[in-house]
Amino acid sequence: MINSINRRTKQTARIVIIGAGPSGIAAATRLLEQGFKNVSILEAEDRIGGRICTVPFGDSVVDKGAQWCHGETGNVVYQLVKDLNVLDRTGDVMKAMNFVRSNKEVLSNENAFILAAAFEGSLPTSPNETNGSLGDHLTNNYWNALSMSPPVDQTIAKEMLETGKKLRCSFTASDNLFEVSKRAHLEFEMSDGEFLLNWKDKGYRSFLKLLMKAKPNAVDDLGLLNGRVRLNKRLAEINYASDIQVKLRCNDGEVLTADHVICTVSLGVLKEQHSQLFVPALPEAKVRAIKGLKMGTVNKFYFEYATQPLPDDWIGANFLWLEKDLDELRGSERFWLESVFGFHRVLHQPRLLQGWIIGEHARYMETLTEEEVLEGLQWLFRKFLPFNMPQPQRFLRTQWNSNPSFRGSYSSRTNYTDELRTGPWDLATPLLDQSGRPKVQFAGEASSNTHFSSVHGAVEAGWREADRLNEYYSSRNKL
Ligand SMILES: Cc1cc2nc3c(=O)[nH]c(=O)nc-3n(C[C@H](O)[C@H](O)[C@H](O)COP(=O)(O)OP(=O)(O)OC[C@H]3O[C@@H](n4cnc5c(N)ncnc54)[C@H](O)[C@@H]3O)c2cc1C
Repeated sequence: MINSINRRTKQTARIVIIGAGPSGIAAATRLLEQGFKNVSILEAEDRIGGRICTVPFGDSVVDKGAQWCHGETGNVVYQLVKDLNVLDRTGDVMKAMNFVRSNKEVLSNENAFILAAAFEGSLPTSPNETNGSLGDHLTNNYWNALSMSPPVDQTIAKEMLETGKKLRCSFTASDNLFEVSKRAHLEFEMSDGEFLLNWKDKGYRSFLKLLMKAKPNAVDDLGLLNGRVRLNKRLAEINYASDIQVKLRCNDGEVLTADHVICTVSLGVLKEQHSQLFVPALPEAKVRAIKGLKMGTVNKFYFEYATQPLPDDWIGANFLWLEKDLDELRGSERFWLESVFGFHRVLHQPRLLQGWIIGEHARYMETLTEEEVLEGLQWLFRKFLPFNMPQPQRFLRTQWNSNPSFRGSYSSRTNYTDELRTGPWDLATPLLDQSGRPKVQFAGEASSNTHFSSVHGAVEAGWREADRLNEYYSSRNKL
């Protein structure tokens, strides 16, 4: 039996990938392109895509998960599609959003510009400034920057700082910026170029189609992966005790065996399930990474109206809370609305609006009924907007944390991660047998050192693990 495993080749090695999100799809397609023949994916949900989830809504589609391709240089998603005319530049449209206070006062463009510039200019940039939290750094530098700007009302400046922090939390899926590691902020590699590239009216799923080389308009065509993805197959146990093969038990009782497993489930799933999922228990360094990295929550709202409800010169609004209104809100049942930081029009979907909520309140919102959520949001509109909003025809909210296939939105590195001296690199370390053969490998966005939390990070991680196997088989053939 041991001999048979050593005799495996790219033609015969059995590779099972757990999860059909962008990382799993990237790993599978790359392996097939590298000449591996026996590659399959087990996916818990009844669809592929994972946190890329494009659904029909309004006049075309919306993305419940990943929506933007963030940057160009060094972004593998952009590099793959840049000549195909599938992406559209958002430009400065989003920067034209209004800032509106809870007494319906709209900030002048001039004040909004001064405050937004002070906020943006206060983000850490020097590689020597790695200690402490992003929140502390931003707060100190914001007030310093403002002391050198034209005078602005200090009460409004404070409200702006709080809203800016919430907006920033949506980048890191953090509950607050005081938990975010400044080191991680600096080590995250931003890709240069347009930051908000959108997929026109086709959604992020069009990228997956390209990755799989599938027909763009044939819903069920998986291109290279046709016949290789098993949906509704939730893994209950990955038993890697033996050096001969990995045994995989699904929730429905089916048992499969593999020579190599690439696990791409989210950090949230690992946090909740790693102690039951892996037999034997994972090594300490891996558990430390799973504990130490953060899986945060960002959720979206989509509203469909008969016609666009905003005045022509409104792209959207960010909410600034007056202290007394916030105190009142915090004492009410609508306390969760504090973390809805803004909403805006949806590009290529003229009748829609999209809103955002972060952190603990995003998780709380998931426990409410859709009617309660919509009622709360309409109250928020009435509280802030100096015009009336009609009743939407349709409403959709996301619930990424409640879903057992995700348990959150995306990962980040906190001060606690740094304290444990762990990071994505520990998550990415494969489990090897005694001869050095990879038995279980880990991909997924949270395992990317420099692009965690993004689709391009997830894709790179999938490729990294495909390449690891390819190198293993290529170097063995040279022996
Ligand atoms: C609201 C939101 C907005 C976002 N916006 C952006 C954006 O604009 N741009 C961007 O670049 N990124 C964005 N992201 C992040 C991006 O979506 C993720 O980083 C990326 O999709 C992660 O891919 P993945 O393959 O690592 O994981 P996933 O997409 O989570 O794939 C893992 C797969 O594993 C499956 N699975 C889980 N448990 C099991 C099990 N036990 N057995 C079998 N299968 C299992 C899951 O169902 C899932 O399909 C956003 C995410 C969210 C939630």
